[in-house]
Amino acid sequence: MLMQWTKSAAAFAEAKQYLPGGVNSPVRSFRNVDMTPPFIASAKGSHITDIDGNEYIDYVLSWGPMILGHADEEVCQALAAQAQRGTSYGAPTLLETEIAQLLQDFFPALEMVRLVNSGTEATMSALRLARGFTGRSKIVKFIGCYHGHSDGLLVKAGSGATTFGVPDSPGIPAEIAADTLTIPYNDLAAAQALFAAQGEDIAAVIIEGVAGNMGLVVPQDGYMKGLKALTEQYGALLIIDEVMSGFRASRGGAQATYGVRPDLMCLGKVIGGGLPVGAFGGRRDVMEHLAPAGNVYQAGTLSGNPLAVTAGLVTLRRLQDTAVFAELEAKSERLCDGLRSAAEQAGLSLQHHRIGSMFTVFFSEEPVVDYATACRSRLDEFAVYFKAMLGQEIYLAPSQFECGFMSLAHSEADIERTIVAATKAFEDVAEYRAARMR
Ligand SMILES: *Cc1c(COP(=O)(O)O)cnc(C)c1O
Repeated sequence: MLMQWTKSAAAFAEAKQYLPGGVNSPVRSFRNVDMTPPFIASAKGSHITDIDGNEYIDYVLSWGPMILGHADEEVCQALAAQAQRGTSYGAPTLLETEIAQLLQDFFPALEMVRLVNSGTEATMSALRLARGFTGRSKIVKFIGCYHGHSDGLLVKAGSGATTFGVPDSPGIPAEIAADTLTIPYNDLAAAQALFAAQGEDIAAVIIEGVAGNMGLVVPQDGYMKGLKALTEQYGALLIIDEVMSGFRASRGGAQATYGVRPDLMCLGKVIGGGLPVGAFGGRRDVMEHLAPAGNVYQAGTLSGNPLAVTAGLVTLRRLQDTAVFAELEAKSERLCDGLRSAAEQAGLSLQHHRIGSMFTVFFSEEPVVDYATACRSRLDEFAVYFKAMLGQEIYLAPSQFECGFMSLAHSEADIERTIVAATKAFEDVAEYRAARMR
């Protein structure tokens, strides 16, 4: 099969005249795998179709949100009906209370919640609240974790920031970066040492539920509980950013998996059902410091937008059935087992990580436990694998430092076809490796 991307290549050239790098979010550019990106025309279920007519099995799923699959019938109908009633009022609706109640059912830690428009807004606002509540200014983040692109969080950041080699972006004043203390992930001793030195000045620790923006790296035994104990000891808040891991690591997110209740938490991606939504919330005594109940300011013209909340509500109601998580788990396990055997068959020893419906294959022979070990992966081999998969109409994230996602719409046939494609792709990698050795 010889695939054509003629129309996409032309569209990309045109887009570059108007949009920096041709895109509205960096990893979409495919720049780091040295390709031009397919331009998408439509998507349905587990499949996504580009403007050249190539139809892929999609494991990006808009970077996680499309857990029901694309253009779900019920979501589409609910959106059409809501659009007829108006798309934004800038005034309270019943929908907002309904989604808050539903979110609390999944996450008991969400005693109160504020809806925003993106994960970036959620983490940025949660930190402001934590600082306002504690009266302290420093925050702790982990090297390679990504929490959106607000100034204080683009310090040693993962995701696209790592993919493009700019974990510390220009444009962030040194005095802002100085309030973000960074330490390696999965290293409790480093956290303890940092708190021993500066614990009295630390407002909050922010951590991903599972690290998903350096590729998938899960916390080691006792790590999350250890961080919770530390923040409690020093009167700092623990913020678990479940923008990616919520509904993905498990039904109740990573906090349910690891048995740690955060003081504040962040959500995004899945809760908008494919429309722009974020949320942060947690302890009532902390949340009541938020305006207008309290004096920490935060606002949004389109926050709690009725279209976005409608898509979120349909999605969350479907996820209330615990059977869907068993289904996601089983499908993801089947796929990842298949990828592992395919790699072994090609003689490749790689690191296969999965939790719930998120997964990463690291092109590394050593265990990946943090940012430093993730960065020792063979990015050239990843690129060979990625291109071989795309060429067989399997759409993966174009970066080693991202996760793959499973949806309820993926079929057994999709998974089977993906494993067959991977068998060929891993053989390509093995050949590439052999040629390099010669
Ligand atoms: C995607 C992501 C964000 C940012 O969300 P946006 O909606 O892209 O602003 C924040 N935190 C984590 C863990 C994420 O994966």
